[in-house]
Amino acid sequence: MFDYLVVGAGFAGSVLAERLAAGAGKRVLVVDRRPHVGGNAYDHYNDDGILVHRYGPHIFHTDSKDVFGYLSRFTEWRHYQHRVLASVDGRLVPIPINLDTINVLHNSNLTSAELESYFQSVAEPVVERRTSEDVIVGKIGRALYEKFFRNYTRKQWGLDPSQLDAAVTSRVPVRTNRDDRYFSDAYQVMPRHGYTRLFERMLDHPNIKILLNTDYREVQKIIPYREMVYTGPVDAFFGHRFGHLPYRSLEFRFETVDRPKVQPVAVINYPNEYDYTRVTEFKHLTGQEHAKSTLVYEYPKDEGDPYYPVPRPENAILYQRYEKLAQATTGVHFVGRLATYKYYNLDQVVAQALTLCAKIAGVRRAQLLQTAATG
Ligand SMILES: Cc1cc2nc3c(=O)[nH]c(=O)nc-3n(C[C@H](O)[C@H](O)[C@H](O)COP(=O)(O)OP(=O)(O)OC[C@H]3O[C@@H](n4cnc5c(N)ncnc54)[C@H](O)[C@@H]3O)c2cc1C
Repeated sequence: MFDYLVVGAGFAGSVLAERLAAGAGKRVLVVDRRPHVGGNAYDHYNDDGILVHRYGPHIFHTDSKDVFGYLSRFTEWRHYQHRVLASVDGRLVPIPINLDTINVLHNSNLTSAELESYFQSVAEPVVERRTSEDVIVGKIGRALYEKFFRNYTRKQWGLDPSQLDAAVTSRVPVRTNRDDRYFSDAYQVMPRHGYTRLFERMLDHPNIKILLNTDYREVQKIIPYREMVYTGPVDAFFGHRFGHLPYRSLEFRFETVDRPKVQPVAVINYPNEYDYTRVTEFKHLTGQEHAKSTLVYEYPKDEGDPYYPVPRPENAILYQRYEKLAQATTGVHFVGRLATYKYYNLDQVVAQALTLCAKIAGVRRAQLLQTAATG
């Protein structure tokens, strides 16, 4: 008899499995329908021996000392600060927009104070910042919105920014200094030997059994367990009884070239040209030395694996109906990005999973983290 059946071996499921097994002495079965652990953070060496992220680039960044400390039990890190350029008007300029972005684009030599005044002069008065468009034009005006945001958002979501919640762009910083880092978190690191290695170490415990290539519905009735931790899509769990929660998906096209490096930074965004939104060169993220290099092109689309919950008010309302069902379902704990229909970063999912685990074990989170790690 297992104490817990954990559905999904991504960060949500793996953290729960590790803490329940190593921290609380429970017997755990982890089931994933994919042929590997790691969920969307899975990485592997491709045929040319280059470490790539199968489901798009995953950069780890967090302000949480707890999350960083907890994951450090399972990996060493490599320091990495993420930088992104955008291809605009035939030039590559830093994104998020900063002082250099504007000076390069406009052939100007503004100071930070002058840029601040410039933004104020072009920002449109917006009474209520309701949509993504309101947020951006209210900060930096329509011309920069058109160059950097409008078409990128349309490609990414298949919707105009005026149709998307303000939340999508409200976290995008606009800087008047020369800071060109994509993130400003206290911890910006990548697992030194990759994410999959981290997961393998996390799940390497005598109380944890793993079943891959298996949908939980195939084993649910034949393997006895006390409670379930569910990290799959919440609408699928309830047979889509209120309808499908909309997701945006992606197609990834990998390309390996006979050159050690191609791009000046890990990611180049293409707001206006091409069908793809961005191109990532993995060696910047992983620090790997190799004579060849692999890049991935991302093509957003509606069908396919569920990646991004679509942030629109009607979808939030639909999710609330499923959330009510989830809360009324005893013996099942819903956690992670698909089960709670939220776009979460990796660190947020780890934090959510640790909080849930403490609740299940009836201890405070700090106490939960004190107990020994796996392996
Ligand atoms: C393209 C992209 C890029 C991203 N980049 C970043 C980044 O740079 N930094 C960052 O912090 N975050 C990033 N994220 C977010 C990150 O991917 C998520 O925070 C994280 O993967 C969520 O983990 P999870 O365990 O909730 O879900 P997942 O990793 O999706 O794991 C859920 C697992 O459940 C399994 N499953 C579902 N249904 C069933 C079933 N019926 N039976 C068995 N198994 C099932 C799935 O196969 C899957 O493996 C990115 C997301 C996307 C889409």
